Amino acid sequence: MGSSPRSLQAIVGAPGVRGKKITALSKDGLTAFIQSIISTKHEMKEPFYVLDLGVVMALFDKWARNLPIAQPFYAVKCNPNPAFLGALAALGSGFDCASKAEIESVLSLGVSPGRIIFANPCKAESHIKYAATVGVNLTTFDSKEELEKIKKWHPKCALLIRIKAPEDGGARCPLGLKYGALPEEVTPLLQAAQAARLTITGVSFHIGSGAMQFRAYREAISAAKIVFETAARLGMPKMDVLNIGGGFTAGPQFAEAASTVKAALQTYFPHKSGLTVIAEPGRFFAESAFTLATNIIGKRVRGDLREYWINDGIYGSMNCILYDHAVVTCMPLTGSSNRSNPTSKEARSYDSTVFGPTCDALDTVLKGYPLPDLQVNDWLVFPNMGAYTAAAGSNFNGFNTSAILTYLAYSNQN
Ligand SMILES: *Cc1c(COP(=O)(O)O)cnc(C)c1O
Repeated sequence: MGSSPRSLQAIVGAPGVRGKKITALSKDGLTAFIQSIISTKHEMKEPFYVLDLGVVMALFDKWARNLPIAQPFYAVKCNPNPAFLGALAALGSGFDCASKAEIESVLSLGVSPGRIIFANPCKAESHIKYAATVGVNLTTFDSKEELEKIKKWHPKCALLIRIKAPEDGGARCPLGLKYGALPEEVTPLLQAAQAARLTITGVSFHIGSGAMQFRAYREAISAAKIVFETAARLGMPKMDVLNIGGGFTAGPQFAEAASTVKAALQTYFPHKSGLTVIAEPGRFFAESAFTLATNIIGKRVRGDLREYWINDGIYGSMNCILYDHAVVTCMPLTGSSNRSNPTSKEARSYDSTVFGPTCDALDTVLKGYPLPDLQVNDWLVFPNMGAYTAAAGSNFNGFNTSAILTYLAYSNQN
């Protein structure tokens, strides 16, 4: 569908979005929107997110233009915000869910179970049973023990064998230490599935999240091809699904990743007819769609050093610094302390430390970061805060990440 007026209509009416206020912005109108929220809605000065649905639409277009062959199944764990999920559903995305609760939240948006893959290679029995009840009939596995559980609770489920990608592409978060059958494990696993009369329809892999070297896709697609051939040699029914997982980022490098995938598919699966290619992008859709505004709640001056405390941190949205190895950036937004120059253009900058609100020294968001001389009650705005942020935040010290509000905006990205 992409960024047509029709898809905007679909998003506005989507479950999770419907009934919520969406503010239309010019392409560069985000800062002004954040200022208006600060001045009208945030006397309490709580942190808040802005989700730009125009960015989500533009990313969906970008995916469809560069990699039309791979149907996206958005990885819910990356950011389960209901309006975001609803928008993706309206645009036609499928969903990668890893747990019963993730399946429930996607189904509650009216998504049909056929658009969900239960892409967790190790699932609790009760979750498998639940998937069977609601008709989620596609999952992944990488062990005999998992096959036994599936045989017992959901024998009609179609299976993708998750293989370990030969390379992790220099990923920020490699996944190969935890998941994926090794080459020598593939034949015994296929035989075990065959003996249990379970249906294996294809292969999945994940080269790791935040990958840098896209040849990892090529290596993994080549390894998948070998599994397809092994299954044929064992006389199994023809496999027809290839799941290339996630690992994509949305910047200019996406075109390169997409070309690498397309070229590898040409090489290893030249007779594409009948092959369904799916992907599980998380970061690609979520990262740049969310912006976080935090309030400066404290300040200390030590010589030329400026130290600030803000009301979100490592135990909240910025857990991405620890878990996702993210490097965050921020921009100052002054309130009453400097109304004539709210973005502090050309102001003198000081080496600054930015702390989160909890009483743990680990809760440090930025060090040696250049910022102007700011005051308590000014704001710091963090762009690109949608991937692996609020999703893994905690309640530590009474700072409740899940209570952070999200305001919806729509900027025309064309
Ligand atoms: C986390 C995860 C994803 C999403 O990965 P990104 O790097 O964010 O695209 C996709 N598939 C599976 C199985 C995952 O565990």
